[in-house]
Amino acid sequence: MIPYVDEFRDGELARMLAKKIAAEIDPAGTYRFMEFCGGHTHSIARYGLADLLPSGVELIHGPGCPVCVLPVSRVDDAISLSKHAIVASYADMMRVPGSNSVSLIQAKAAGADIRMVYSASDALEIAKKNPHREVVFFAIGFETTTPPTALVAKQAKAMKLGNFSIFCNHVLTPPALSGILDSPGAPLQGIIGPSHVSAVIGLQPYARVAEKYRIPMVIAGFEPLDVMQSVHMLVRQTNRGEARVENEYTRAVTPEGNIKAQALMEEVFELRESFEWRGLGQLLKSARRFRKEYSEIDAEVRFSIRIRQVSDHKACECGAILRGLKRPHECRVFGTACTPDNPLGACMVSSEGACAAHYSFGRYRTT
Ligand code: SF4
Repeated sequence: MIPYVDEFRDGELARMLAKKIAAEIDPAGTYRFMEFCGGHTHSIARYGLADLLPSGVELIHGPGCPVCVLPVSRVDDAISLSKHAIVASYADMMRVPGSNSVSLIQAKAAGADIRMVYSASDALEIAKKNPHREVVFFAIGFETTTPPTALVAKQAKAMKLGNFSIFCNHVLTPPALSGILDSPGAPLQGIIGPSHVSAVIGLQPYARVAEKYRIPMVIAGFEPLDVMQSVHMLVRQTNRGEARVENEYTRAVTPEGNIKAQALMEEVFELRESFEWRGLGQLLKSARRFRKEYSEIDAEVRFSIRIRQVSDHKACECGAILRGLKRPHECRVFGTACTPDNPLGACMVSSEGACAAHYSFGRYRTT
């Protein structure tokens, strides 16, 4: 038995929670809850949680999949960088289609030196072993992967490695939540908040969102009982007309978060005025860039990257899916022209992507 995992996958307890939820919902009420994070989307699809819940409770997928929210232009830029440097990237990012459906892995197959890494430290190692070549780490992700990038940036700066830089695409969760809640569409009654991100940033940043939009939020772990329990907590808040931030994931998330990681991010990065998100468009102060003191390892400065706007594949509905306006099977190429083996859009690549999660667990397969 794996502690803190197996006991959160108990089917009997999940069914018991489902009964409690069913008993407490108001038949005339609306309970549309968005799970922000792709990890929750994965868990919901894998364990069939939506099928356990009563019909009055609807779970809507959100934009919290790191590779899904990155716009096409940033993928194109990383591919362009490979003309000047070794580009190191996380595995999930390798298959995300850029313009004309060309991904990093396809560029690699065509001869570019693009390497898959497990961490920013791996990319730094490549730079140390290749002192005569430029090496760029393609940094992506929410507040979970930002501190390790900051740490490696500090190490690289201290080492005065002349050949290492970072293409920074780190984004922030709270502005994305605001972007969702500001966008048109059927109103949400609650948010299942991210787990790993919250272990870093704590609960405080969500309080402003809950207060401004009068919406309940529950920070939840990724295991199936975590998700069921958080739905129960959201149902209770909805019934009482509350809009509070609650913490279901107390075994990992503290109210203040990881203060050291927050200080590290603050030391190395500042907020961009605006950043383009796939599906959500430009969001103010929603992403990080290097502070001036780190410009020598900022790939945008070193390679004079000019950010452009590039459209998604015409058939792809990732934008609407990331905003919670459509479901994966409502895309007309879901499971036919677009599959995990041949993704047309970013949501079909990572296991955290809504389309990949639905397809992989066979819940909405069309073939
Ligand atoms: S099925 Fe493919 S093309 Fe359609 S929305 Fe999902 S990722 Fe995009």
